[in-house]
Amino acid sequence: MASVTLKVSGKKMPLTGFGLWKVPKPQTADTVYAALQAGYRLLDGAGDYGNEKEAGEGLARAIKDGVVKREEVFVTSKLWNTFHAPEHVAKMARRQLQDWQLDYFDLFHIHFPIALQYVDPDHRYPPEWFGDDGKVHLDTTPIQSTWQAMEKLVDEGLAKDIGLSNFNGSLLLDVMRYARISPSVLQIEHHPYLVQQPLLDLAKSYGIAVTAYCSFGPASWIELNMHGQIPSLLEHETIKAIASKHGKSSSQILLRWASQRGIAVIPKSSKPERAQQNFQSEDFTIPEEDMKALTALDKGHRMNDPSSMDVKLSIF
Ligand code: NAD
Repeated sequence: MASVTLKVSGKKMPLTGFGLWKVPKPQTADTVYAALQAGYRLLDGAGDYGNEKEAGEGLARAIKDGVVKREEVFVTSKLWNTFHAPEHVAKMARRQLQDWQLDYFDLFHIHFPIALQYVDPDHRYPPEWFGDDGKVHLDTTPIQSTWQAMEKLVDEGLAKDIGLSNFNGSLLLDVMRYARISPSVLQIEHHPYLVQQPLLDLAKSYGIAVTAYCSFGPASWIELNMHGQIPSLLEHETIKAIASKHGKSSSQILLRWASQRGIAVIPKSSKPERAQQNFQSEDFTIPEEDMKALTALDKGHRMNDPSSMDVKLSIF
């Protein structure tokens, strides 16, 4: 399995992983166990996904049964927006590690560059975007303070690498001004409708690896009824034609388009045959002309944009 070497720890992050967003709690332990059995060695979790305890159960069972050793699995998690204040960062990392039954994360991200007011986990966990009154409550913690608290996670051995998610180029530049420990990974929405080439180039110039989420574009948002009028990528004629030319599925083409350029992918599927298919997306090469045709589908379509949700209507 191909991997990318991370700049801070020197550890290898697999280029194909398994994402845990929207995996229902009751199925999470078995899903994680099955993903590990299928060969996945990167698990992408987050406090916000509300299933880290169950994911930890699946991982612990796989370790106990000899499917994997802890050091063979690259476990990623993320700090939610309500915990940006420095005094909450290590506390939440420790709590999330406890959920996973682990003593370190391979990678811990800031989930969004958006600080929200603190919500006591005993009151509601995960806190998600909206407060008890249905409104979004912004907090004033600057990203610099959160990043400095993230750096301490590395100092204390709670995370081997730290990363950013959903940061644009300007925000990445901001972090690079004061980072004592550089982000190792930038996790962003990335698919042929949203290429973000300048951001990819900027990350590369700093030696920061990129992980793509939502590799299938609108597919993940259909169940949330948030896909708008954006046409399917999996059914796109160009992608279907390239897939049939190479005897692959559209999903494999979309994943390979990213991994072939050294970008990690973390598709999620609750269906074992799809999870297997997604995992087997690295064993072929897409010719340059097809890579170009896929990249040319770029339309700047962003699926995950908090500022376009009801958030701005409900702030304060
Ligand atoms: P995805 O692009 O991986 O799409 C998943 C959906 O596509 C599934 O719900 C399933 O319906 C469908 N699918 C999966 N495999 C398929 C196949 N082989 N054929 C046809 N359909 C298939 O999107 P995602 O789940 O949104 O993203 C992947 C992971 O990225 C998440 O689980 C999560 O770990 C991470 N993520 C991170 C952020 C962030 O803010 N950092 C946001 C979204 C997702």
